[in-house]
Parts: sequence; C-alpha cells; structure tokens
Amino acid sequence: MDSYLTTFVTLASTSAVLNLFLCAFVFLKRRDYGELASSFIMSAAATTIYAFGYAFSLTSSTLGQLKFWNVVQYIGMPFAPPLGLLFVMRYLGKRVPKRGMAALLVIPVLSLLIDATNDLHHLQYAVYETDPARGAPYVHIEYGIWFVIQGIFLFSCMLAAFLLLLARWKETTRPYRPQLLSLLCGQLAPMLTAFLYLVGIAPEGIDTVPMVVWISSAMFLWAIVSSHMLTIVPIAKETIFHSMNDGVLVLDGQDRLVEFNNEAKSMLEGLDRSMLGQPLGKVWAALFGTAFPFASPARSDNGELSLTVQGTERIYQSRVAALRRSGRQGEGRLLIFTDITELKRLQTRLEHLAYYDELTGIYNRRAFFERCRAGFAEARKEGEPTAVLLMDIDFFKKVNDTYGHDTGDRLLEHFVAVCRACLSEDAGLSEDMLFARYGGEEFVLALRGFSPEESVALANRVRERVAANPLLTAEGEIAVTSSIGISVSAGEQEETLRQLLQRADEALYAAKRSGRNRSVLHEGAATAPASSAQ
Ligand code: GH3
Ligand code: MG
Ligand code: MG
Repeated sequence: MDSYLTTFVTLASTSAVLNLFLCAFVFLKRRDYGELASSFIMSAAATTIYAFGYAFSLTSSTLGQLKFWNVVQYIGMPFAPPLGLLFVMRYLGKRVPKRGMAALLVIPVLSLLIDATNDLHHLQYAVYETDPARGAPYVHIEYGIWFVIQGIFLFSCMLAAFLLLLARWKETTRPYRPQLLSLLCGQLAPMLTAFLYLVGIAPEGIDTVPMVVWISSAMFLWAIVSSHMLTIVPIAKETIFHSMNDGVLVLDGQDRLVEFNNEAKSMLEGLDRSMLGQPLGKVWAALFGTAFPFASPARSDNGELSLTVQGTERIYQSRVAALRRSGRQGEGRLLIFTDITELKRLQTRLEHLAYYDELTGIYNRRAFFERCRAGFAEARKEGEPTAVLLMDIDFFKKVNDTYGHDTGDRLLEHFVAVCRACLSEDAGLSEDMLFARYGGEEFVLALRGFSPEESVALANRVRERVAANPLLTAEGEIAVTSSIGISVSAGEQEETLRQLLQRADEALYAAKRSGRNRSVLHEGAATAPASSAQ
C-alpha cells in the first residue's frame, strides 16, 4: 500500500476509533444523559461503522472485497445523517413522534438493501468496477438513480440539522454558545465534505467524508466534556422540577402516578416512590383514607382542598395541566398543588380589615352601609319598618383629655361590650339587627321590623345599661352615658337609608341639646324631632 493510501486509511480509522470512543463514553453515562443518549449513540455508531467500513475498503485488493466493504459502509453511512438530525432535534427539545422517526429511516433501509443487491439492478451504481488504471482499492463508479435520491435525502438531513441549530443561535445565551457552535461545526464539516465529494472536488477515487467525521466527533466530544452538552438540559429540567414551590404529580393516560417532585412529597404526607404506578384514587385513599376530592383528575377543573401537614392545616389550590405532544392527546397530565394557606390568611385578614372595626371588632361604617342597604331595600319591599339608632357617647372628648387617648379607647371597647351584652340578652343579636361603629365615638344600630315604640324602648334599655356600667380603671370609675337619636321608616314611604340616618342624626342632635343621656325619636320625615324619652 502506498503512503497516499496509508494516509487515508489512517484518517478513516482514526475517525472510526474516535466515534467508537464517543459511543462507548455516552453509553456508559447514558443514565445521566436521559433520552438524548440513545439518539446520540445510534448516530455515532452509524458513523463508526461507516468509517471502519471505508477504512477496510481501502485495504481491499479485489473487486469482491471492495463490494463487501462497501455494503458494510452502507450499514452505517445512510443512517448517520437522519440519526444525527434526530439527535439535534431532541437536543433542541423538539419532540419527534415515533412515526416521524420511522419515516426518517425508510430511505436509509432501502439504500442498504439496494446497495447490497446492486448487481441485480444497478440502481445504486450503474457501473462499479476496479479502476482500470490504478486497480483496487480504487474504483471506477458511475452512479445510478438511487444514489442521487439517497444523496439528496442525506444532504437534506444534514442541512436541516444545521439550520435548526443555527435558528437557535439568537436565543442562546452567551455561556451556551460555544456548545452550539461546536455542534454547528460538527454538523458543517461532513456536510461540506459531502458536498465537495458529490460535485467531484475530492481526491481522485477517494470518499473524503469518512476522513472528516472525526472532526465532528471531536467537536461533539469537546461539547459533551467541556459544557455538559447532553447533561445540562435534563439536569436543568430535573432541578426545576424538584425546586418548584408547587407540588407536582405526573399522571399517565390511565391516571396512574408516574412521578412526583420533592414539594409534592412534603405536601402530601406519606407519599412514597413505592406508590409509583398505582392509580391516583388508590394512592389518595392510602394517604388520606378518602376518595380523591375532585370529580376526576382528568378534568382540568381547579379546586381547593385543605390537608393537615405536620399537624397544621394547609390550604392547597389544585390545577390540572394536560400533557400533550404536538398533535396528540391524552398522554397524561400534571396535577399541580399550590400552597395558598398564607394567601387565604391574608385574604381573610384583608376582608376582616375591610369590614370590621379594628378597635371594637364590630362592623365598620362601610360594612354597615353595604349590609344595611340590602336589608333596608328588602324590608321596604315587604312593607316592614326599619329603625336606625344613632348612639353617641356623651362628653367623650373629656375622657380623652382627662385620662388620655388609651383610656378613651378602652371606654369605646367597654361601651361596645355593654351594648352587645344588652342587645344579645334583650333582643337577641339576630339577623335583623345590625350594630356598627359609625365613626369616632358614634355607633349605629339598625333594626328590622321594630316599631317606633319598640325602638325607643330598646334604645332606653341600652342607654340605661351603659349608664349603669361605668368603666373601671386604675384611676377609678369613669361614668359613661350616651345619647341616642332614633328614626323609623314607615315601610311603604319612598325614602332612602341616607334620609333615615339624616333624621336619626337630627334626633341625636336634639337629644344632646336637651341635656344628653336620653333617647329622642324623630317623628316623621319632614317634621322636627319631637318625642323625647328619658
Ligand atoms: P358630645 O357629648 O357632644 O358628644 O361631646 P363629645 O366630647 O363626646 O363629642 P365630640 O364629637 O366633640 O368628641 C368626640 C371625640 O372622640 C373627638 C375625638 O378625638 C375622639 N375620638 C374619635 N375617635 C376616637 C378613637 O378611636 N379613640 C379615642 N380615644 N378617641 C376618639
Ligand atoms: Mg360624643
Ligand atoms: Mg360625636
């Protein structure tokens, strides 16, 4: 063998050995690389066979040997570009359906069969013989129609992989560009060589593609070792899955538990990997002794559920996300639990703050108007009277000035406690009664179905109870009295709640003016307050 040939045999063998090494390397670490490993191994294995087959064909001395090694090359060569494309697609996170994968391999399988049986039909090579001038291993070839079809297909696969990688360039952040670049170069080298070979710019009688596939191998190897090309994507996904704040259960098409993340494990006490493969209903029953709380996890309905975790009650919002590959359906679903306990607490607190008076714990003015307006309208529709009592503590300012603001606050709390005790004993704090802080040291009581006489009687009982219960402080008793203005709607009259309150306020003013510690009923819509009850 001359040195010219030796060079090519060495190059092709180096290429084959490197590919083989790469194949073995990824195979041994296949668990780390997830599903990318299989497509990578297949593509590298195909290239290995191709390169070895070609290296051996260059050592042939007869036409029979040449043909044999040519067929060996075809066990690998036509498969390498489509498998390479498959690898690139998976690397870029594109799902390749099984049917699509099978379709990619139709032409390579046909190529192998046609190449192996070429003597029968000459579709691959119209002429395949030893070079008449130089002899084996050089060959004189005239290509057949299938060779052209196969060439276009294989070149398209390589071009598609290259373009897919290129399209990813812009959205790839700087640190990951070297690995993308190495994949691009790895893809470009055999593509350019194949192109030059196909257009005839190559050493006479030598297929240069097997010589350069080692460049791709080196590029891919560098990318794997230096930037964890194959591991980074699945590891990133795994990390995100397990560091999420949401608990995630992965269910298959039959609602069997397939996977869950760390957060789900801490949210659903007792969840264990031994439960994988079991139907969700069974898992739920084993964990909580109840049926799964929602109609069916298959439906994407959202729901709330409360569970006891480490002795405390937590509230979770659950949602369902269907897992679909493009165009397909029903492959499984994610059941996602979000802990909304704090959110719920905050919501309850905000609602409380919005509707209740912070100091006394009774309804505030806003809540009073919201609730009373509705009750008032309803009472009017049914022809029932509504009474409002505006209650104001007498000389409250003096308490503040004498004992301080804090004692003033205690007095407000005390006043409310006394009123509530009186109302609940007396009339029973029923749904027909609305007691609220109207503002400052003024309170309002709305009563449904109370006549003017009943209202005045109740007002006086409350007023007397307040007067009889001074606030006990370290500095002695603080006497407290109140004045009450009362207004009662006639039921059928066209008047608003505001007007009713306005009249109660007028009656209250009259009560203050006429000496305080008394109740005054405003008699009629337009007339001045009249009846005074002491
Ligand atoms: P009158 O008998 O005429 O009702 O006299 P008054 O002093 O009770 O009436 P006025 O409306 O002049 O005074 C009410 C005072 O209540 C003024 C205000 O500083 C005080 N006040 C309002 N809200 C609060 C509160 O939440 N806590 C305390 N400590 N004082 C308050
Ligand atoms: Mg007052
Ligand atoms: Mg006042």
